Amino acid sequence: MPVGGVRDGVRALGWGMSRQGLEAASGVVLTRSAWGEGDLSLTLFLKGMGLVRVFARGAAAGRVRFGGGTEPLVWGSFRLHRGRGGGVYLSAVDVVDGMIPLRRRPDPLRAAVRWSRLLVRHLMAEHPADDLLANLYWNMRLLAAPGVPPDAAEWRFLWRWLSAWGLAPDLARCAHCGAALGEASWTGEGLICAGCGPQGDRPRFSGEDLALLRRVAGTDVAGVERHGKLGELDGVRGTFALASRCVQGLLSQDIRSSDFKG
Ligand SMILES: [Zn+2]
Repeated sequence: MPVGGVRDGVRALGWGMSRQGLEAASGVVLTRSAWGEGDLSLTLFLKGMGLVRVFARGAAAGRVRFGGGTEPLVWGSFRLHRGRGGGVYLSAVDVVDGMIPLRRRPDPLRAAVRWSRLLVRHLMAEHPADDLLANLYWNMRLLAAPGVPPDAAEWRFLWRWLSAWGLAPDLARCAHCGAALGEASWTGEGLICAGCGPQGDRPRFSGEDLALLRRVAGTDVAGVERHGKLGELDGVRGTFALASRCVQGLLSQDIRSSDFKG
């Protein structure tokens, strides 16, 4: 009785396929490109599956077979099947959230596209990353919230991603001596206090900056929206953008390719 084989292989990839080889999973379209004649190639980020490359037959040929469901940044429930050659094909999409408010403004839209590229670059294919998927969803929503600078949402997204991977820098204590941080500078591995090293022209953060970064990283989405509505995030966009640039290099550290110099 052959029990293992293909089914076990399929399970190892995180697939719980039904008898017809169909599977539904919720998630988001990260990238889309033309493929063959009238077909599309999509990178989906799916619950329980992680990054999956999917082909959508006939989607680009003028027939609007999948509605808006193949647009990048669309969240939905995707029905998939395995082709004979092992490729994954899209059967149907139910759009759950088209992220319309985000698409209306260039800065939030650019940020979401940037995040999609980062995920495609850093995630392993067909490895579930459900925490990160949820992090992506809520921070994409935050990108469109009034009073919340896109840079603040970006900082929150990146910091929580790093935190899930155990790479987030300590925002309260010096990476060298462990002292509570007042003013701090960024070294590429973490934040260090004024006593631990020359500040030079390294990126620098005041104690107030760090308190704000901690607050936005650690507060739930509704809380950050409240800070935004109260105007507490105005005028500090530069801080979030600088902090995001600093920590982005850490995403590569798990493969030791980071050569980030502040
Ligand atoms: Zn120190």
